[in-house]
Amino acid sequence: MLHPAFPVAIFLIFLMMASGLRYGLIHQYTGQIQANLENETRSMANNLEWEFKSHAGAIQRMAKRLAADPTTPEHEWRQDARNYLMDFRIYTVIEWIDRDFFIRWLEPVSLNETVLGFNVGFNEQRRQALAEAQLSGNYDISDVLELRQGGKGIVIYAPVGKGAENNGFIAGVFRMEMLAQELLSTREPEMFRVSLFSKGSEVYRQNSFDRSDDSLSYTVPVDLPTLDWQLMLEPSPDWVAKQFSPWPRWTFIALLLMGVLTSLAVLLAQIILKRNQALLTTRQELDEEIAQRKTIQQDLVRLESTDVLTGLANRRFFMEDLAHTLTLADRQMRQVALIMLDLDRFQMLNDSLGHQFGDELLVQVAKRLNLLSDERVSVAYSGGDEFMICLQFVEDIDEIIHLLGLIKQCFAAPFEVQDEVHSITSTLGIAVYPQSGLDADTLLRNADIALYRAKDQGRNTYQFYTEGMQEREVMRLELEKELSQALSNNEFVLHYQPQLNLDTGEITSVEALIRWQHPRRGLLAPGEFIPLAEESGRITDIGHWVVMAACRQLAAWNGTRFGHLRVAVNLSGRELDDENLVDHIRDALNAEGIPAERLEVELTEEIFIQNIEHNRDQLSRLHDLGVHLAIDDFGVGYSSLAYLRDFPVDLLKIDRSFITEVTERHDDAVITRAVINLAHNLGLKVVAEGVETQAQLDFLMGQGCNMAQGYLISRPVPATELERALVGGTLEKFALAEPRYEI
Ligand code: C2E
Ligand code: CA
Ligand code: CA
Repeated sequence: MLHPAFPVAIFLIFLMMASGLRYGLIHQYTGQIQANLENETRSMANNLEWEFKSHAGAIQRMAKRLAADPTTPEHEWRQDARNYLMDFRIYTVIEWIDRDFFIRWLEPVSLNETVLGFNVGFNEQRRQALAEAQLSGNYDISDVLELRQGGKGIVIYAPVGKGAENNGFIAGVFRMEMLAQELLSTREPEMFRVSLFSKGSEVYRQNSFDRSDDSLSYTVPVDLPTLDWQLMLEPSPDWVAKQFSPWPRWTFIALLLMGVLTSLAVLLAQIILKRNQALLTTRQELDEEIAQRKTIQQDLVRLESTDVLTGLANRRFFMEDLAHTLTLADRQMRQVALIMLDLDRFQMLNDSLGHQFGDELLVQVAKRLNLLSDERVSVAYSGGDEFMICLQFVEDIDEIIHLLGLIKQCFAAPFEVQDEVHSITSTLGIAVYPQSGLDADTLLRNADIALYRAKDQGRNTYQFYTEGMQEREVMRLELEKELSQALSNNEFVLHYQPQLNLDTGEITSVEALIRWQHPRRGLLAPGEFIPLAEESGRITDIGHWVVMAACRQLAAWNGTRFGHLRVAVNLSGRELDDENLVDHIRDALNAEGIPAERLEVELTEEIFIQNIEHNRDQLSRLHDLGVHLAIDDFGVGYSSLAYLRDFPVDLLKIDRSFITEVTERHDDAVITRAVINLAHNLGLKVVAEGVETQAQLDFLMGQGCNMAQGYLISRPVPATELERALVGGTLEKFALAEPRYEI
């Protein structure tokens, strides 16, 4: 249909139809013309016959009159003849011919005198024909003759009487022109070429115009006595043209026009269809492109919503989803739990074992947690070592507790990362919609607060958000703000807690413990601000201050009766990261002119191990400086003790948790004794922390513990108070009892 040849084909079909119809119509009209021509010819022949017969009849009547009155004188006859000539103008001359065929009378005489006395039986054939006419009384017609008067003509001979009574003939001579004129007078003379044939040869022709088409002609015999005539009519082109109807042409043109219009319409339709098709393809292409873009957008959305490392939803997506979940929960009157999950000690592992390790661990944790996700539970990675878990459609708090159990289960089996097995625990903070927050952001903040609380309480646990937490959180934030000014405002103070030497019964060393003299809140214990300071990084400066203050105190005691005291300061993990730590300690010692062995540094077992593995350099420099090294909170951290052999440690401080019930719990007693023995075997001194009762002290002395520290001896007190106590000698009394204690 859309082929370019199609309109051309349609046009050709129309052309063929038009031509066919034209041919057919022309053919029909040609037949019609032929018939018209025939009619024309026949009527002309009839006319000729009739004309001829009437003339012959007139001549015959004249002959009859003369036969009836043979004595008619010449002038009378001529008068009669003149009348005939007047009536029948075609006659050129009327004659009386005697029985021997000589012309005797004629009318008009002028121009015809030459034929008087002429014998019309001039040849045998004529003579015979005339003789026959005399005998029968029927008229005779000569052939077309060359008239003696000039021109062509015909003569009708009517016998006057027949047989023996014959008295010659009356003859009428008329010219062919006249006859033809008479014949054709009723018709348009130029329309036809009229030819008269006598015995097959043309004897007369009228209108000798050129005929381009000689196929049209018609010949009829003319029925006249004694004559063998034929009349042929050939129409002029004008006549033919007139006969032709304009219909074939108009039909042809009309059909052709229709063809042109139809093919043009088809062409137009084709163009429109093609346009439509092009539009359709463009539309399809557009649709395809739109679909492609949509998939790309969906991919982008998916990419944007997914964390690349863990493959879990990312924080942004999770929060959007949570907001949506909350609106649903609102309608369905259900609760939603948001759980923030923090990996315990992740930062330490990440720092010590490398980012690669951290990443692999995160991936494994993500995998396990993701197993919990279903239509109600969604899991996301929030960044760092934090994950977010959302539980929808909560009807009962037990459902949350159940999920918490499942989360804990995820950490039951150790993780194998980089061919090493690690036991990992997690701490969780939970906020529940609607009671713990009405929008996603509030829920998140409160879950964070709960998480923070849980961490405070020691790890591997969980904490639901409660109203009070908010206040504490506000306080925490305030404190953090105020902490930044505490140093410049000189609000920190050091309290000193003496350590009783159980061998000598003397106080030989004290532990410096920081306090914050808060302008409004009063004296704050380190537990209330040290974690904040560690988080914000302010611990480094605070640590510097502690070392400086301790050295200043040592300098102050120098040369007094307290000049023998060693001061122990606590260092946190963050402080050890500071490259300038050792330099700073040295500077402080030098500034106050204090020998290094008068200063002791306490590091928790955890921090110590981390540093021995990854920052041996810092510890070696510290040791090389000559300061004493004590391991704080010993026994709660790592089980491996190999490091004690590898590194020159001076002192172990048994954690307070073992001492508190050492006299009641067999296990604690065993552990304490084992630690003391171990330390002694390694050539280390042992300090027991948190000694609150005489019984505890007795036990420790019995086990050969070197030193004791605790409320029993003294609480941490300001330097002046310590000095007073030392002067008073109240601190040493406990060691006087002879230690005896059996496990
Ligand atoms: P720590 O190093 O284990 O310090 C001993 C803590 O036990 C002190 O708490 C002390 O008051 C408390 N204590 C001593 N004897 C007893 C006792 O018989 N019974 C009980 N229940 N507690 C006793 P404090 O002063 O609140 O210090 C807490 C922690 O804060 C310290 O634990 C130490 O880790 C940290 N800290 C203290 N001062 C500093 C400091 O200057 N720098 C750093 N980085 N941390 C410090
Ligand atoms: Ca300590
Ligand atoms: Ca301790």
